[in-house]
Amino acid sequence: MDRIIDLRSDTVTVPTQKMRRVMYEAEVGDDVYGDDVTTAKLESMAAQRVGKEAALFVPTGTMGNQLAVLTHTNRGQEIILEEDCHIFNYEVGGMAFLAGVQAKLLKGRDGVLDAGEVEDSIRIDDIHFPSTGLICLENTHNRAGGIAIHPDRMEPVYRVGRKYNIPVHLDGARVFNAAVALGVDVKDITRYCDSVMFCISKGLCAPVGSLLAGSEAFIQKARRIRKMLGGGMRQSGVLAAAGIVALTEMVDRLAIDHENAKVLAEGLANIPGIKIDTGRVQTNIVIFDISQTGYNGYQLAQELKAFGIKALGSPNGIVRFVTHKYVSRKDVYRVLDAMTRIISGKSMLARAN
Ligand SMILES: *Cc1c(COP(=O)(O)O)cnc(C)c1O
Repeated sequence: MDRIIDLRSDTVTVPTQKMRRVMYEAEVGDDVYGDDVTTAKLESMAAQRVGKEAALFVPTGTMGNQLAVLTHTNRGQEIILEEDCHIFNYEVGGMAFLAGVQAKLLKGRDGVLDAGEVEDSIRIDDIHFPSTGLICLENTHNRAGGIAIHPDRMEPVYRVGRKYNIPVHLDGARVFNAAVALGVDVKDITRYCDSVMFCISKGLCAPVGSLLAGSEAFIQKARRIRKMLGGGMRQSGVLAAAGIVALTEMVDRLAIDHENAKVLAEGLANIPGIKIDTGRVQTNIVIFDISQTGYNGYQLAQELKAFGIKALGSPNGIVRFVTHKYVSRKDVYRVLDAMTRIISGKSMLARAN
């Protein structure tokens, strides 16, 4: 049988040969004592790349985002977020549990917050009210379909933050996908935030890790809190070495993943019963609706297994496929072929049922 095609996420990408080699050869030390030169190199490289003073290597994007909330805010504050964002929906309620903040959720358009609504949501000084401590943005916006948000649409929100002296944090788990898709320098995006988290463990193929970047003072404070959360790592240079390759060699090729996602989306659009807005497929995430086909996401994932394709199941008709380095153009055609057979009821499995 053919190689398994894994469309569940870009987190399934494994380190490249080059990454494994540099990991093997990495010069390391105890990073808690500041001795790990490879981690220090990744951190300074990351800071420079996103135009911030300093950066911190963290084990996961979730820890990076939670550290940002913890570092920027005080207990009992309120933070403004887009209602479908990762920080609110997929981080186990950490912002409430760890930072003790509450959420002011706003409905975004294509994942974008309206600056006027943000401004209206900022709490005035009143003895009854919590104070607003942070504004969070996400780019690319995962649940909105991997949409790449142009910096022009972030700037007004950042200006509001500036006006009221409220910091803006960017969940940039896939911010390099956004930069590549928009054809801009990543700094053109990150200039409209005070802190940014980005993942090297997704489309950039590093095995583990994310970076949190911001001002020198912010990162100094975040480093202490990272230690408190148990995120002070020792010879982390073994991982950071792969991160350096991720940043230097894996960013430009994201364009290939985006192109493959587009081909996948256009192919899916031609299958009767599948609903998809191909205009929303701007990066490596393809979200579509199969509810008119009679399948739900779980059933589709089950059917795809027989074709050697892994997909995430969902109880409804909304399905997300993600392209990455290990999904080739040929794989895309294999997926489309499988989808056509399944949906038109011609798969072996469907016949057997
Ligand atoms: C993946 C992701 C994260 C969290 O990263 P982990 O490393 O899985 O903890 C945060 N935000 C967004 C938008 C993501 O897609």
